[in-house]
Amino acid sequence: MAAAGRLPSGEGPDVEQRALFPHQFSGGQRQRIAIARALATRPDLLVLDEPVSALDVAIQAQVLNLLRRLQAEFGLTYLFISHDLGVVQYMCDEIAVMYLGQIVERAHRRQLFARPLHPYTQALLAAVPSPQSRGKVRAAVTGDPPSSIDPPSGCRFHPRCPLAQPLCREETPVLRRLPSGRQVACHLAEETNGDATGS
Ligand code: SF4
Repeated sequence: MAAAGRLPSGEGPDVEQRALFPHQFSGGQRQRIAIARALATRPDLLVLDEPVSALDVAIQAQVLNLLRRLQAEFGLTYLFISHDLGVVQYMCDEIAVMYLGQIVERAHRRQLFARPLHPYTQALLAAVPSPQSRGKVRAAVTGDPPSSIDPPSGCRFHPRCPLAQPLCREETPVLRRLPSGRQVACHLAEETNGDATGS
């Protein structure tokens, strides 16, 4: 528990808590302890895989704010993995969107949330109610995700993509960089987004 002593003031354990078993801590306390243990090795990079998904919203906010404070204090880099787009938007600068184990779009947070280019990213953001998305019509996605053990041919998203062409079933789109610096794996990236800049 020594590492917990390095946490910002008010975050360390008191004397009684040192005698508790793991199941006697709350979910938020267990997450803080896990973070303290990870920091004990003084890492430069932390991989955070769904770090707040099991917590209620109020505790999520506390843990996310703690992570941001620690990042600033220790100069940490986070590889942050989450299905919660609100959490991703709050925590991440650079975002890579994955579908069936492959990166389909990569961009800075502001670019991605303002103007998603890949149909899967568009569908993800369309499913999140927000003041920014109100009134905007984005492509919908239907059907269940295919098996990642036996993925579809060509573009793995083609069975669910409303824009799919015959080419999409035959040829796998590579993740390619657009003039704006954004990266998209879609045969129609330029055509469906009105210009070739992708900005
Ligand atoms: Fe849709 Fe084709 Fe682009 Fe895949 S490559 S996302 S199927 S338009």
